[in-house]
Amino acid sequence: MKTHPAGRKLFAHAFGCQMSAADVAEMSGALAKRGFALTSELDEADAVLVGTCTVRDHAEHRALSYIGRLREWKTSHPEGAIIVAGCAAERIGGGELKRRFPHVDLVAGSKSVESFPSIVDSFLSKRAPAEPKTSPAVSASGISATLTIMRGCDAACSYCIVPSVRGPESHRPAGEILGEARLKAEAGAREFTLLGQAVNGWHGAFEGRPAGFGDLLGLVASVPGVERVRFMSPHPLRFDETVARAMAEHPKVVPALHLPAQSGSDRILALMRRGYDRASYLATVAMARRLLPGLTVTTDILLGFPTETEADFADSLSLLSEMGAVSAFCFKYSPRQGTPSSLLCDDVPREVKEERLVLLHALVAELSAAYLDSLVGREVSVLVDEPGTGRAADGFRVRLDEPVLPGRVVSAVVSGRAGNILMAHIPRRKA
Ligand code: SAH
Ligand code: SF4
Repeated sequence: MKTHPAGRKLFAHAFGCQMSAADVAEMSGALAKRGFALTSELDEADAVLVGTCTVRDHAEHRALSYIGRLREWKTSHPEGAIIVAGCAAERIGGGELKRRFPHVDLVAGSKSVESFPSIVDSFLSKRAPAEPKTSPAVSASGISATLTIMRGCDAACSYCIVPSVRGPESHRPAGEILGEARLKAEAGAREFTLLGQAVNGWHGAFEGRPAGFGDLLGLVASVPGVERVRFMSPHPLRFDETVARAMAEHPKVVPALHLPAQSGSDRILALMRRGYDRASYLATVAMARRLLPGLTVTTDILLGFPTETEADFADSLSLLSEMGAVSAFCFKYSPRQGTPSSLLCDDVPREVKEERLVLLHALVAELSAAYLDSLVGREVSVLVDEPGTGRAADGFRVRLDEPVLPGRVVSAVVSGRAGNILMAHIPRRKA
């Protein structure tokens, strides 16, 4: 690895969810403070940071096979450093990972995000002489940025490995979150996504008074420069009227709700230990719609949970239609080490899971298309994040008929769609 401080470059890649991407961004920031400039070219990097995911078997395999392929990079960059972070690193452990992948130099699992700066200091001190902390380019935060407001999870969904690899819930103090929001907004961020595993469970204090998640939404929305605030993922059990009212009060909080249901079958929801049933989930969605006119709702569906029958699966399909979802992330169940459901027989055959996934995707495509078609002729607000394209409040991408510069929010009339991308033009206003 080069020792010249300004000459070192970092290539960072995150597998998995937005939380994993946010962790990698935070760790990249720590490396930037230690003299690393970000590069998008693996070949010119002096260090590679990989954020791994273990939520599903498939996600972990993808991350591990990527790490395996980095062996080649190491051969051509013998001085280079490979740093493996994230949930799969936490699950497998540093010793085992280094045994399987001897070309890996440093392992820092998902519980070490906050202590990463000191971990990296001790690592770097062993490899290169101490260097001045003059950071060249810190990565530009972009128009859309994330804010991790809490880490870990206290829920105990029977299928989920997250509580074991990320540990118990801890909530970041409001002042720290707002400080980060201000810095990122000054650097150009216009949209914030508040991240956490059951993000609406956040609570803390602001100016000496207790503050809940609804208060935090308002505080982030008031940061100068902020145009939009979103959050991911709220837990249905904790999504109450306070949060919906706070969303309604702050026009900068988008009227879009991603509320993971996981299943539409009461029997499966009970086995999943989600803490709610179909009727109460639907009642929560109805409450949110009542308080938030024009709300769009999306969800997560986990299919093929042990013992899931055709009828249970049909309940998930019908839930999507009944709740009026405009999109959904769909996942095939895989047993995860140490979770309660891993003790159940994974009895839904692979081909059946595949078939169910195809059916779910087809329904989601239909629901998205019907929603997007219903927008034709209507005006939507677009936050431009690349010249001439951006995102509507509902999260769908919009292509404008003018090369509007990134960072602006414009009103545009929808003229049609190409797949899931809306086409829109900016109306000429009469002077
Ligand atoms: N905290 C969020 C989800 C985090 S995990 C929530 O409660 O909704 C992201 C998604 O991964 C989940 O919504 C779930 O659908 C999926 N997932 C979790 N464990 C899984 C498993 N064992 N197999 C397949 N998908 C899983
Ligand atoms: Fe996993 Fe449930 Fe926590 Fe979400 S709420 S991270 S699914 S345990």
